[in-house]
Amino acid sequence: MATNWKFIIDESVTDPDDIARAFGLDLESTRRVSKTYPVKINPYFLKLAKDNGEALSRQVVPDIEELSPRNTACPKDPIMEEAYSPVTNLTHRYHDRVLFLVSDTCPVHCRFCTRKRKVGKGLTVTDETIDEGIEYIRGKPEIRDVLLSGGDPLLLEDDKLTDILDRIRGISHVEVIRIGTRVPGTLPQRVNEELARLLSRFHPLYIHTHFNHPAEITAESSIACRILADSGIPLSSQTVLLSGINDDASTLETLFRSLLSLRVRPYYLFQSDMVRGSEHFRTPLESGIKIMETVRGRTSEMALPRFAVDLPEGKGKVVLDSGHIEDDGRGKVIVTTLEGEKVKYPDPAPSG
Ligand SMILES: *Cc1c(COP(=O)(O)O)cnc(C)c1O
Repeated sequence: MATNWKFIIDESVTDPDDIARAFGLDLESTRRVSKTYPVKINPYFLKLAKDNGEALSRQVVPDIEELSPRNTACPKDPIMEEAYSPVTNLTHRYHDRVLFLVSDTCPVHCRFCTRKRKVGKGLTVTDETIDEGIEYIRGKPEIRDVLLSGGDPLLLEDDKLTDILDRIRGISHVEVIRIGTRVPGTLPQRVNEELARLLSRFHPLYIHTHFNHPAEITAESSIACRILADSGIPLSSQTVLLSGINDDASTLETLFRSLLSLRVRPYYLFQSDMVRGSEHFRTPLESGIKIMETVRGRTSEMALPRFAVDLPEGKGKVVLDSGHIEDDGRGKVIVTTLEGEKVKYPDPAPSG
């Protein structure tokens, strides 16, 4: 694509007064919210949000609700990334993999961000934090899988990104590199042949992208996904379940099926985290489970992500498909069928 993505990013709207004018919001409260949680919307997503109404605009536009009591009562870091952080910007919670923040900027500031406490205000990535993170990974042979995030790693300049990937690929025990990015859906102009070629030098490299609503799938974002998929990068989506935005089965069914057509495999549907400033996006657990049951009956397993919750107090990610499964305590598993019938399923006898 011919448009220069850096130009688009430079034109991002970050002034609350401009946002209030663009979306017809109350000036005073938009200013107040933005002071605590900075606003950023690039022109591509701004136009998309204006054209598509609340499902997109609520994802990026400040809401006075962010400062309400139910929000101020929430922890800033419920999944406790900092507590599991041996060096700045790296979280090592699961034995064989790490989350490594290598960028401190994003194409838009999502109002439901898990790292709302620090994105746009205090998340700092420097050459030193990157060196430290890489040295940490090098010193831990159990780390097979490095998940790059931020901020958005694809907002790094090509040479910076190449340098980081080169050094991680140079560590012999690292098998898989993953990039978490919302770029394909929020700044698709960033994805071009050059970027795809750059990334494909580091296979096996996976991209977890992030789409929340069918309206994010445009001609531009479709091209971005095609370019990446054509260069052999397996794509998946980490969708966040958001109250009033996508918390109904037909919206998500459409989204998952559309993603699959773009060669993006739905990977996780995340329960929105109990993060200060994002609490009003959170849905009851039951609602995610129900939605997934409905979608499951209507489409192929190919289109189904796993519904997962990252438990508060740092208790970790849990996939919630266990509602279908109970243990009867005698080595038999009771499986509940789609029709609601409970069926005994004998596990194979242990070997040896
Ligand atoms: C989610 C997460 C991962 C990756 O988890 P997968 O289930 O392997 O995708 C790794 N580290 C941290 C800290 C995470 O939160």
